Amino acid sequence: MPGDSSKVNINSGGAEKNTYDAIVIGSGISGGWAAKELCEKGLKTLVLERGRNVEHNKDYPTATKDPWELKHRGRITKETHEQNPLITKAAGYGEDNQHFFVNDKDHPYVQEKPFDWIRGYQVGGKSLTWGRATQRWSDFEFTGPQRFGYGWDWPIRYADVAPWYSHVEKFIGICGNKDGIESMPDGEFLPPFDLNVVEQHLKDSFLKNYGNRYLVHARWAHLTKPNQIHLDQGRAQCQARNLCMRGCPFGGYFSSNSSTLPWAAKTGNLTIRPFSVVHSIIYDDKLQKASGVRVIDSVTKETTEYFAKIIFVNGSALNSNLILLNSTSARFPNGLGNDSGILGKYVCFHNYRGWMSGHIDGFEDKYVYGRNPTDTIIANYRNLHKIDTDFVGGFTTFAGAYRERGDGDRCPEQIGAAYKEAMTEAGPWHVYAYVQGETIPKAINHVRLSADKKDQWGIPLLVTSVGYDDNDERLLKDFFTQTEEMLTGAGVKNITHSDSKQAPGLDIHEMGGCRMGNDPNNSMLDKWNALHHCKNVFVTDGACMTSTGNQSPSILYMTLTARAANHAVEELKKGNL
Ligand SMILES: Cc1cc2nc3c(=O)[nH]c(=O)nc-3n(C[C@H](O)[C@H](O)[C@H](O)COP(=O)(O)OP(=O)(O)OC[C@H]3O[C@@H](n4cnc5c(N)ncnc54)[C@H](O)[C@@H]3O)c2cc1C
Repeated sequence: MPGDSSKVNINSGGAEKNTYDAIVIGSGISGGWAAKELCEKGLKTLVLERGRNVEHNKDYPTATKDPWELKHRGRITKETHEQNPLITKAAGYGEDNQHFFVNDKDHPYVQEKPFDWIRGYQVGGKSLTWGRATQRWSDFEFTGPQRFGYGWDWPIRYADVAPWYSHVEKFIGICGNKDGIESMPDGEFLPPFDLNVVEQHLKDSFLKNYGNRYLVHARWAHLTKPNQIHLDQGRAQCQARNLCMRGCPFGGYFSSNSSTLPWAAKTGNLTIRPFSVVHSIIYDDKLQKASGVRVIDSVTKETTEYFAKIIFVNGSALNSNLILLNSTSARFPNGLGNDSGILGKYVCFHNYRGWMSGHIDGFEDKYVYGRNPTDTIIANYRNLHKIDTDFVGGFTTFAGAYRERGDGDRCPEQIGAAYKEAMTEAGPWHVYAYVQGETIPKAINHVRLSADKKDQWGIPLLVTSVGYDDNDERLLKDFFTQTEEMLTGAGVKNITHSDSKQAPGLDIHEMGGCRMGNDPNNSMLDKWNALHHCKNVFVTDGACMTSTGNQSPSILYMTLTARAANHAVEELKKGNL
């Protein structure tokens, strides 16, 4: 059978030497949080990371470079494009940060339907390159699928996670404004980045014209005014350089590398093992629980087993599905904990296809000072208390305004004297908006293991079979119609909209496959993110998502991870795991 882990040739390093209290698979956004919480609670914790080590600051080679110091001024060469047609599509990918993304050829997978799987395999994972938007979910999102019959019910509600959101926000640092909006609860905010004059105008106009459509300050993982806990992490105030995806030498935005991992290391309880590809989780039939993991050294290809009482699976949503599907045993022939047969199903994502822009007059005497690494947010206003559209789910709109300067329309030649001239003068105010839409989890949107294709470590390739549906088309249409109406009402002109028709996955918010739920016949994980049928394995990355909501998901992964880690330690103390 594909991925039958009983057929792996084991070259064990010796059980005692390789035994820890806890193992965390993956060192990205969620794995970093698992490591922090478990180490702080005194557990000797092994973090297994398939990629290379990336040490905060030391391994940010471009962080302080000016454009002229980069060989191609930050642009991607034709050769890189041709060799990496997939990963070069990732938002923000450039010459300055390509070392934090995988190469296409090294990490193949099978696209049964087009799916752009964007990955960053290194210590820190995608926490180095993420966009940093961090709004909280509301109960509208937790209850929407069940209330309106388009999905499975979550086993938790906002009240279950609210204190854990606070726990995470205080530690990582989130800037924002307390706006009191029902659909986007307030958090523990540091001061926000200011709205500029046009953004303030849009905010006022939307409120005046609709009464319940809120444009608010960015809620973003930036230290606008660090507290002691941030200084204790060795981080400093965000300098608003807006070069975040290179790694920040100030630790001005949250990454695992600048925050959770060094914090975990300070306890003396952390061991990170880079170059360690987790092949599968070992299930002990006698103990009826997981006993450890099998790891292939990515360089030597040697296989080793590591053992622990609890295992956190944080490889990022689709990799966690892959690991679980590949963890077969006599008890679980279809993947660890997969009695229900739903592992790998109900994979979902965010609809990121819509973009709008335009110009606005009347503010030519106003300017902005400094850079702003954030976008303002229009909180979801659709399908909250009732379905008020022809689709289900909601959407968040990110928006903003800036003064053009030497931009394409006014100066098509991006080089030479005319360009220099155009750069010296501030142009018109440009307004933009883009969508982050909820999608419906469906059994047909799934991932599975290839029956015949393997990667260079002998692990079956992942097959992705994920597509859009009519609901996505209707949501997108509504975003265009409503946003055009709102912008027109605010005096924005020359409004254009574009549907990128991008494949799912390029949103980089892949979720599901190992969803939470109360019923073990229809879900993989209980309300504490533990596998229903293997209670010492916790899955707390995007794989656990029962539905997608419309908020940026990563802060929820961190929140669920912290909550689950604390529960796991309590259960350990009681002798239940
Ligand atoms: C350009 C960009 C913009 C984004 N913007 C936002 C945003 O604004 N807001 C938001 O909420 N999210 C955003 N995201 C998404 C966010 O980065 C992810 O949701 C988040 O990183 C997921 O955390 P994770 O821990 O699940 O995975 P990751 O951070 O990807 O970490 C997973 C780690 O596991 C390792 N791993 C995988 N498989 C194995 C294995 N078999 N063995 C050992 N190790 C393994 C990987 O190498 C990686 O280091 C963005 C992402 C990108 C790239």
